[in-house]
Amino acid sequence: MPDTRTISAYEDDMNDAVREAAALLASGEIVAVPTETVYGLAADAFNPEAVAKVFAAKERPDFDPLIVHIAAYRELAEVAEMPEELESVVKSLAGAFWPGPLTILLPKSAKVPDLVTSGLPTVAVRQSANVIFRAIGRALGRPIAAPSANRFGRISPTSASAVEKELGGRIPLIVDGGACNQGIESTIISIELGETRPLIRVLRAGPVTKEELQKFGKVVIEKRKADAPDAPGQLAHHYAPETPLLMFDKPSDFKPEPDKRYGLISYRGDEKAGYLHLHEWELVEELSPGSGKLQEAAIRLFYVMRMMDEEGLDAIVVEPVSEVGLGVAIMDRLRKASVKGG
Ligand code: AMP
Ligand code: MG
Repeated sequence: MPDTRTISAYEDDMNDAVREAAALLASGEIVAVPTETVYGLAADAFNPEAVAKVFAAKERPDFDPLIVHIAAYRELAEVAEMPEELESVVKSLAGAFWPGPLTILLPKSAKVPDLVTSGLPTVAVRQSANVIFRAIGRALGRPIAAPSANRFGRISPTSASAVEKELGGRIPLIVDGGACNQGIESTIISIELGETRPLIRVLRAGPVTKEELQKFGKVVIEKRKADAPDAPGQLAHHYAPETPLLMFDKPSDFKPEPDKRYGLISYRGDEKAGYLHLHEWELVEELSPGSGKLQEAAIRLFYVMRMMDEEGLDAIVVEPVSEVGLGVAIMDRLRKASVKGG
Protein backbone atom coordinates (compact mmCIF):
# COMPACT_ATOMS: atom_id res chain seq x y z
CA MET A 1 0.00 0.00 0.00
CA PRO A 2 1.41 3.40 -0.95
CA ASP A 3 1.47 6.17 1.62
CA THR A 4 -1.87 7.60 2.57
CA ARG A 5 -2.43 11.03 1.03
CA THR A 6 -4.68 13.59 2.68
CA ILE A 7 -6.26 16.18 0.38
CA SER A 8 -8.20 19.26 1.37
CA ALA A 9 -11.80 19.62 0.27
CA TYR A 10 -12.16 23.14 1.61
CA GLU A 11 -13.71 25.83 -0.56
CA ASP A 12 -11.83 26.04 -3.88
CA ASP A 13 -10.32 22.59 -3.37
CA MET A 14 -13.69 20.87 -3.09
CA ASN A 15 -14.35 20.09 -6.75
CA ASP A 16 -10.91 18.58 -7.33
CA ALA A 17 -11.13 16.54 -4.14
CA VAL A 18 -14.59 15.25 -5.06
CA ARG A 19 -13.44 14.29 -8.55
CA GLU A 20 -10.36 12.47 -7.24
CA ALA A 21 -12.28 10.60 -4.55
CA ALA A 22 -15.05 9.57 -6.95
CA ALA A 23 -12.50 8.35 -9.54
CA LEU A 24 -10.74 6.20 -6.93
CA LEU A 25 -14.06 4.77 -5.73
CA ALA A 26 -15.10 4.02 -9.32
CA SER A 27 -11.82 2.13 -9.79
CA GLY A 28 -12.65 -0.14 -6.84
CA GLU A 29 -10.54 1.66 -4.24
CA ILE A 30 -11.52 2.81 -0.76
CA VAL A 31 -11.38 6.42 0.45
CA ALA A 32 -11.92 8.06 3.84
CA VAL A 33 -14.49 10.82 3.59
CA PRO A 34 -16.14 13.31 5.92
CA THR A 35 -19.78 12.93 6.94
CA GLU A 36 -21.71 15.03 9.45
CA THR A 37 -21.54 12.22 12.04
CA VAL A 38 -17.99 10.81 11.90
CA TYR A 39 -15.50 10.16 9.09
CA GLY A 40 -16.48 7.16 6.94
CA LEU A 41 -14.40 4.66 4.98
CA ALA A 42 -16.16 4.61 1.62
CA ALA A 43 -16.46 1.96 -1.09
CA ASP A 44 -18.74 1.48 -4.09
CA ALA A 45 -21.59 -0.42 -2.40
CA PHE A 46 -22.19 -2.56 -5.50
CA ASN A 47 -18.56 -3.69 -5.79
CA PRO A 48 -17.89 -6.61 -3.41
CA GLU A 49 -14.10 -6.48 -3.94
CA ALA A 50 -14.05 -2.83 -2.90
CA VAL A 51 -16.27 -3.56 0.10
CA ALA A 52 -13.91 -6.39 1.11
CA LYS A 53 -11.09 -3.81 1.26
CA VAL A 54 -13.10 -1.82 3.81
CA PHE A 55 -13.38 -4.85 6.10
CA ALA A 56 -9.67 -5.59 5.66
CA ALA A 57 -8.46 -2.04 6.34
CA LYS A 58 -10.61 -1.75 9.45
CA GLU A 59 -9.93 -5.34 10.59
CA ARG A 60 -13.67 -5.47 10.94
CA PRO A 61 -15.26 -8.89 11.41
CA ASP A 62 -17.50 -9.81 8.49
CA PHE A 63 -20.52 -10.23 10.79
CA ASP A 64 -20.69 -6.46 11.36
CA PRO A 65 -22.63 -4.95 8.43
CA LEU A 66 -22.02 -1.59 6.74
CA ILE A 67 -24.34 1.37 6.24
CA VAL A 68 -25.20 2.21 2.63
CA HIS A 69 -25.37 5.91 1.76
CA ILE A 70 -27.55 7.20 -1.03
CA ALA A 71 -27.08 10.58 -2.70
CA ALA A 72 -30.80 11.13 -3.40
CA TYR A 73 -34.08 9.60 -2.23
CA ARG A 74 -34.71 7.97 -5.60
CA GLU A 75 -31.57 5.83 -5.10
CA LEU A 76 -33.37 4.11 -2.23
CA ALA A 77 -35.20 1.87 -4.71
CA GLU A 78 -31.84 0.54 -5.92
CA VAL A 79 -30.67 -0.65 -2.51
CA ALA A 80 -33.90 -1.57 -0.69
CA GLU A 81 -37.17 -3.34 -1.44
CA MET A 82 -39.69 -1.00 0.13
CA PRO A 83 -42.52 -2.87 1.90
CA GLU A 84 -45.73 -1.24 0.68
CA GLU A 85 -47.11 -0.85 4.20
CA LEU A 86 -44.04 1.08 5.35
CA GLU A 87 -43.71 3.37 2.38
CA SER A 88 -45.55 6.33 3.87
CA VAL A 89 -43.74 6.29 7.23
CA VAL A 90 -40.35 5.88 5.54
CA LYS A 91 -41.20 8.81 3.26
CA SER A 92 -42.18 10.95 6.25
CA LEU A 93 -39.03 10.05 8.18
CA ALA A 94 -36.85 10.70 5.15
CA GLY A 95 -38.66 14.00 4.60
CA ALA A 96 -37.97 15.04 8.18
CA PHE A 97 -34.44 13.74 8.70
CA TRP A 98 -32.73 13.17 5.33
CA PRO A 99 -30.22 14.30 4.44
CA GLY A 100 -29.10 13.72 8.01
CA PRO A 101 -27.97 11.33 10.74
CA LEU A 102 -30.82 8.78 10.61
CA THR A 103 -30.17 5.24 9.33
CA ILE A 104 -33.20 3.11 8.43
CA LEU A 105 -33.19 -0.69 8.13
CA LEU A 106 -35.19 -2.02 5.19
CA PRO A 107 -35.33 -5.31 3.27
CA LYS A 108 -32.29 -5.33 0.97
CA SER A 109 -32.42 -5.40 -2.80
CA ALA A 110 -30.62 -8.20 -4.65
CA LYS A 111 -28.14 -5.63 -6.02
CA VAL A 112 -26.54 -5.11 -2.61
CA PRO A 113 -23.77 -7.70 -2.09
CA ASP A 114 -24.23 -9.99 0.92
CA LEU A 115 -20.87 -8.83 2.24
CA VAL A 116 -22.30 -5.33 2.80
CA THR A 117 -25.14 -6.62 4.98
CA SER A 118 -23.19 -9.51 6.55
CA GLY A 119 -25.67 -11.89 4.99
CA LEU A 120 -28.64 -10.21 6.68
CA PRO A 121 -31.87 -9.79 4.68
CA THR A 122 -31.94 -6.10 5.63
CA VAL A 123 -29.83 -3.15 4.52
CA ALA A 124 -29.07 -0.07 6.63
CA VAL A 125 -29.57 3.10 4.54
CA ARG A 126 -29.08 6.77 5.06
CA GLN A 127 -28.48 9.99 3.15
CA SER A 128 -25.65 12.07 4.58
CA ALA A 129 -25.99 15.83 4.93
CA ASN A 130 -22.28 16.52 4.41
CA VAL A 131 -21.94 18.50 1.16
CA ILE A 132 -18.59 16.95 0.24
CA PHE A 133 -19.82 13.41 0.84
CA ARG A 134 -23.00 14.04 -1.13
CA ALA A 135 -21.04 15.48 -4.04
CA ILE A 136 -18.81 12.38 -4.07
CA GLY A 137 -21.91 10.16 -4.14
CA ARG A 138 -23.40 12.13 -7.02
CA ALA A 139 -20.12 12.05 -8.96
CA LEU A 140 -19.83 8.27 -8.45
CA GLY A 141 -23.48 7.77 -9.40
CA ARG A 142 -23.75 4.73 -7.16
CA PRO A 143 -24.54 4.17 -3.50
CA ILE A 144 -21.60 4.22 -1.10
CA ALA A 145 -21.03 1.66 1.66
CA ALA A 146 -19.22 3.40 4.49
CA PRO A 147 -18.67 2.42 8.11
CA SER A 148 -16.73 4.67 10.45
CA ALA A 149 -13.08 5.14 9.38
CA ASN A 150 -11.48 3.59 12.45
CA ARG A 151 -9.93 0.23 13.17
CA PHE A 152 -12.49 -2.16 14.62
CA GLY A 153 -13.38 -1.57 18.26
CA ARG A 154 -11.74 1.84 18.43
CA ILE A 155 -13.10 5.36 18.72
CA SER A 156 -14.72 6.76 15.59
CA PRO A 157 -12.69 9.58 13.98
CA THR A 158 -14.16 13.06 13.81
CA SER A 159 -11.26 14.71 11.95
CA ALA A 160 -8.95 13.84 9.05
CA SER A 161 -5.96 13.67 11.42
CA ALA A 162 -7.78 11.09 13.57
CA VAL A 163 -8.41 9.01 10.41
CA GLU A 164 -4.70 9.23 9.56
CA LYS A 165 -3.85 7.84 13.01
CA GLU A 166 -6.35 5.00 12.56
CA LEU A 167 -5.82 4.00 8.95
CA GLY A 168 -2.62 5.72 7.73
CA GLY A 169 -0.68 3.28 5.49
CA ARG A 170 -3.79 1.15 4.91
CA ILE A 171 -5.79 3.32 2.52
CA PRO A 172 -4.76 5.49 -0.43
CA LEU A 173 -6.69 8.69 0.30
CA ILE A 174 -8.27 10.78 3.03
CA VAL A 175 -10.54 13.66 2.02
CA ASP A 176 -10.21 16.39 4.66
CA GLY A 177 -13.52 18.18 5.12
CA GLY A 178 -12.82 19.59 8.59
CA ALA A 179 -14.37 18.51 11.88
CA CYS A 180 -17.66 16.60 11.85
CA ASN A 181 -20.53 18.76 13.06
CA GLN A 182 -22.51 16.03 14.84
CA GLY A 183 -19.62 14.03 16.27
CA ILE A 184 -21.36 10.72 16.99
CA GLU A 185 -22.63 7.99 14.72
CA SER A 186 -26.10 8.05 13.18
CA THR A 187 -29.25 6.87 14.93
CA ILE A 188 -30.20 3.42 13.56
CA ILE A 189 -33.87 2.40 13.47
CA SER A 190 -36.02 -0.44 12.24
CA ILE A 191 -39.73 0.09 11.56
CA GLU A 192 -42.71 -2.22 11.88
CA LEU A 193 -46.38 -1.69 11.32
CA GLY A 194 -47.66 -1.25 14.88
CA GLU A 195 -51.24 -1.73 16.05
CA THR A 196 -52.29 1.88 15.64
CA ARG A 197 -49.05 3.73 14.82
CA PRO A 198 -45.76 2.53 13.30
CA LEU A 199 -43.39 0.94 15.79
CA ILE A 200 -39.92 2.45 15.58
CA ARG A 201 -37.13 0.53 17.28
CA VAL A 202 -33.95 2.47 18.01
CA LEU A 203 -31.11 -0.05 17.55
CA ARG A 204 -28.37 2.53 18.05
CA ALA A 205 -29.01 5.85 19.79
CA GLY A 206 -27.63 8.84 17.89
CA PRO A 207 -28.13 12.48 16.93
CA VAL A 208 -31.79 11.98 15.96
CA THR A 209 -33.42 11.54 19.37
CA LYS A 210 -36.32 9.47 20.68
CA GLU A 211 -38.23 12.70 21.28
CA GLU A 212 -37.86 13.69 17.60
CA LEU A 213 -38.87 10.23 16.34
CA GLN A 214 -42.00 10.10 18.49
CA LYS A 215 -43.86 12.30 16.03
CA PHE A 216 -43.72 9.41 13.56
CA GLY A 217 -44.69 6.42 15.69
CA LYS A 218 -44.26 4.61 18.97
CA VAL A 219 -40.56 4.57 19.79
CA VAL A 220 -38.78 1.81 21.70
CA ILE A 221 -35.10 2.04 22.60
CA GLU A 222 -33.68 -1.45 22.26
CA LYS A 223 -31.56 -2.38 25.23
CA ARG A 224 -28.83 -4.88 24.63
CA LYS A 225 -29.33 -7.94 26.79
CA ALA A 226 -26.18 -8.70 28.74
CA ASP A 227 -26.55 -12.44 28.22
CA ALA A 228 -27.57 -12.33 24.56
CA PRO A 229 -25.08 -12.75 21.74
CA ASP A 230 -23.97 -9.39 20.43
CA ALA A 231 -26.27 -8.08 17.75
CA PRO A 232 -24.58 -6.24 14.88
CA GLY A 233 -23.64 -2.75 15.98
CA GLN A 234 -24.65 -3.46 19.53
CA LEU A 235 -21.33 -4.91 20.58
CA ALA A 236 -20.87 -4.32 24.29
CA HIS A 237 -17.33 -3.02 24.02
CA HIS A 238 -16.81 -0.66 21.20
CA TYR A 239 -15.43 2.80 20.67
CA ALA A 240 -12.91 2.19 23.41
CA PRO A 241 -9.79 4.25 24.09
CA GLU A 242 -6.65 2.28 25.04
CA THR A 243 -6.56 3.95 28.46
CA PRO A 244 -9.21 2.42 30.74
CA LEU A 245 -12.25 4.69 30.89
CA LEU A 246 -14.09 4.60 34.22
CA MET A 247 -17.65 5.76 34.75
CA PHE A 248 -19.29 5.57 38.17
CA ASP A 249 -22.87 5.75 39.38
CA LYS A 250 -21.82 8.37 41.92
CA PRO A 251 -18.59 10.34 42.40
CA SER A 252 -17.78 8.72 45.75
CA ASP A 253 -17.47 5.32 44.05
CA PHE A 254 -14.13 6.50 42.62
CA LYS A 255 -11.31 5.07 44.75
CA PRO A 256 -8.01 6.31 43.30
CA GLU A 257 -4.95 4.15 43.73
CA PRO A 258 -1.84 5.93 45.02
CA ASP A 259 0.76 7.00 42.43
CA LYS A 260 -1.63 6.54 39.55
CA ARG A 261 -2.29 9.35 37.11
CA TYR A 262 -5.94 10.08 36.43
CA GLY A 263 -7.64 12.42 34.01
CA LEU A 264 -11.21 13.67 34.24
CA ILE A 265 -13.68 14.21 31.43
CA SER A 266 -16.11 16.64 32.98
CA TYR A 267 -19.40 17.51 31.32
CA ARG A 268 -19.31 21.27 31.94
CA GLY A 269 -16.62 21.81 34.58
CA ASP A 270 -19.40 22.19 37.10
CA GLU A 271 -18.24 21.81 40.73
CA LYS A 272 -21.72 20.72 41.75
CA ALA A 273 -21.32 17.54 39.70
CA GLY A 274 -19.00 16.41 42.48
CA TYR A 275 -15.97 15.30 40.48
CA LEU A 276 -13.64 18.30 40.17
CA HIS A 277 -12.51 18.26 43.79
CA LEU A 278 -12.47 14.52 44.15
CA HIS A 279 -8.83 14.17 43.15
CA GLU A 280 -5.70 16.00 41.99
CA TRP A 281 -6.44 15.31 38.34
CA GLU A 282 -3.50 15.27 35.90
CA LEU A 283 -5.77 16.74 33.31
CA VAL A 284 -9.37 17.93 33.15
CA GLU A 285 -11.24 18.33 29.87
CA GLU A 286 -14.77 19.61 29.53
CA LEU A 287 -17.17 18.14 27.00
CA SER A 288 -19.19 21.33 26.88
CA PRO A 289 -17.08 24.35 27.82
CA GLY A 290 -19.23 26.67 25.73
CA SER A 291 -22.99 26.96 25.75
CA GLY A 292 -23.76 24.12 23.34
CA LYS A 293 -24.51 21.71 26.18
CA LEU A 294 -25.40 18.18 24.99
CA GLN A 295 -24.96 19.11 21.35
CA GLU A 296 -21.49 20.48 22.01
CA ALA A 297 -20.68 17.48 24.22
CA ALA A 298 -21.60 15.10 21.39
CA ILE A 299 -19.44 16.96 18.90
CA ARG A 300 -16.44 16.94 21.26
CA LEU A 301 -16.88 13.47 22.80
CA PHE A 302 -14.61 11.38 20.56
CA TYR A 303 -12.13 14.23 20.11
CA VAL A 304 -11.72 14.58 23.89
CA MET A 305 -11.49 10.80 24.38
CA ARG A 306 -8.73 10.58 21.76
CA MET A 307 -6.84 13.52 23.21
CA MET A 308 -6.97 12.10 26.75
CA ASP A 309 -5.94 8.69 25.40
CA GLU A 310 -2.70 10.20 24.09
CA GLU A 311 -1.65 11.48 27.53
CA GLY A 312 -0.41 8.15 28.89
CA LEU A 313 -2.73 8.31 31.90
CA ASP A 314 -3.46 5.24 34.03
CA ALA A 315 -7.18 5.81 33.73
CA ILE A 316 -9.73 8.36 32.58
CA VAL A 317 -12.76 9.08 34.75
CA VAL A 318 -15.82 10.39 32.97
CA GLU A 319 -18.82 12.15 34.48
CA PRO A 320 -22.13 10.68 33.34
CA VAL A 321 -24.53 13.05 31.55
CA SER A 322 -28.28 13.10 32.01
CA GLU A 323 -30.09 10.66 29.73
CA VAL A 324 -32.45 12.96 27.93
CA GLY A 325 -32.38 13.89 24.24
CA LEU A 326 -28.85 13.57 22.87
CA GLY A 327 -27.71 12.47 26.33
CA VAL A 328 -29.04 8.97 25.53
CA ALA A 329 -26.59 8.61 22.63
CA ILE A 330 -23.70 10.11 24.62
CA MET A 331 -24.28 7.72 27.53
CA ASP A 332 -24.54 4.79 25.09
CA ARG A 333 -21.07 5.63 23.74
CA LEU A 334 -19.64 6.18 27.23
CA ARG A 335 -20.96 2.82 28.46
CA LYS A 336 -19.53 1.05 25.43
CA ALA A 337 -16.16 2.73 25.97
CA SER A 338 -15.95 2.21 29.72
CA VAL A 339 -14.57 -0.78 31.55
CA LYS A 340 -16.67 -0.21 34.59
CA GLY A 341 -19.96 0.98 35.96
CA GLY A 342 -22.77 2.70 34.11
P1 AMP B 1 -20.54 2.01 11.65
O1 AMP B 1 -20.86 2.63 10.34
O2 AMP B 1 -19.11 1.64 11.82
O3 AMP B 1 -21.08 2.79 12.78
O4 AMP B 1 -21.29 0.62 11.68
C1 AMP B 1 -22.51 0.44 11.05
C2 AMP B 1 -23.47 -0.23 11.97
O5 AMP B 1 -24.72 -0.28 11.31
C3 AMP B 1 -23.16 -1.69 12.28
O6 AMP B 1 -22.32 -1.85 13.37
C4 AMP B 1 -24.54 -2.23 12.56
O7 AMP B 1 -24.91 -1.99 13.86
C5 AMP B 1 -25.48 -1.35 11.80
N1 AMP B 1 -26.08 -2.09 10.72
C6 AMP B 1 -25.76 -2.01 9.44
N2 AMP B 1 -26.53 -2.83 8.71
C7 AMP B 1 -27.37 -3.44 9.56
C8 AMP B 1 -28.39 -4.42 9.42
N3 AMP B 1 -28.74 -4.91 8.22
N4 AMP B 1 -29.02 -4.83 10.53
C9 AMP B 1 -28.69 -4.33 11.74
N5 AMP B 1 -27.72 -3.40 11.94
C10 AMP B 1 -27.07 -2.97 10.87
MG1 MG C 1 -18.06 2.11 13.64
